[in-house]
Amino acid sequence: MTVRQRGRVPGWSRREAMTLLGLGSVSLAVACRGGSVQDATPPGTASAASATGAGAGTGPSVFPDGAIVRTILADVAPNALSHGAVLFHEHLSLNVPFWDRLLGGITDDQREMFLGSPDAPYFMRDVDVMVAEMQAAARDGVAAIVDGGHADMGRSVEFLREVSEKSGMPIIASGGYYTDPFIPPELADQTDDEIAEALAQSAAAERWGAFGEIASSDEITPAERTVFRAIAKAHLATHVPIFTHTANGLEAEAQLDIFESLGVPSAHVVIGHLGGLDDPAATVHKAIAARGAFVGFDRLGGGPDADARKVPMVLALIEAGYLENVLLASDFAAARDITRNGGAGYAKTITQFVPMLREAGVGDDAIHTMTVENPLRFLAFVPRSA
Ligand SMILES: [Zn+2]
Repeated sequence: MTVRQRGRVPGWSRREAMTLLGLGSVSLAVACRGGSVQDATPPGTASAASATGAGAGTGPSVFPDGAIVRTILADVAPNALSHGAVLFHEHLSLNVPFWDRLLGGITDDQREMFLGSPDAPYFMRDVDVMVAEMQAAARDGVAAIVDGGHADMGRSVEFLREVSEKSGMPIIASGGYYTDPFIPPELADQTDDEIAEALAQSAAAERWGAFGEIASSDEITPAERTVFRAIAKAHLATHVPIFTHTANGLEAEAQLDIFESLGVPSAHVVIGHLGGLDDPAATVHKAIAARGAFVGFDRLGGGPDADARKVPMVLALIEAGYLENVLLASDFAAARDITRNGGAGYAKTITQFVPMLREAGVGDDAIHTMTVENPLRFLAFVPRSA
């Protein structure tokens, strides 16, 4: 989460967003129940190649045998979600006590911004409102969304499941722990192995498709370090991929050090919030990408100035040959940004930021790589039983 200035970028129509994503047509993926791998490619998008239209993309990505994306309703073949953008870090389910703690008490302005009108239910607890927002995002070209919350942030798995069922939007649930103040005190008495075992069990029981957002403070605290080690071990036991929260990029390399030291393949890791660095040459970003991890620009759609500052960093990564390491998302969290309140909605990454990349000369193929292929490569894994 972050406190953002309200954006004034004019909205983009669905047709413009489609064109910008290099997508010919978009329809909701068919979310299927059950635990088996299912080809949910919707009618009209018979192959990823036809869905990429406009010559974008290089056809269906190749994934390892048995690789799936674990949505909250079903395990699906990764290419079944290649008909639109896959947003790897958003929030659909937080609660008011989390905000109260995060902000240290909520002012009236913050309440309006993050929670919305005091006369209406909080949108992240209102199934009907969230279903409408998911359907709006699908119309704007979103094929699937990862929820980055977990129990210590007030995330409800049941809420995510109901929203996915009713909206048709494939939702990937995640889990883990946030920054130190939110880590449950009882973890202090547990080893990283014990925490890892519990994480692997919860991941299986609640169908997590990722561990995230796994957070560190300005400096990684001892409790956060234990959580990072536990997440690494839970990944090795399950193969569930990992995405992180940094304090605007601080400790980015230290996070990856912990994962690498325990043998986690970097290709299954996103180091997040690196758009928060003031680093136009993208020095840290390149260092992360050179080690094989994904680089998360995941607070996009936060206003034209904030977005414009991130464009050179994305360009620098592409120019250095790291296109396939770039991931885009918005860390959606504020009530003012939902379409019901006049905001750009959950698709703002692709309706607000992607056009800025286009204006900077980034072509259809590269945009397709960043918005469709990269997130699916990140999310695809061959499950391993704990
Ligand atoms: Zn987040």
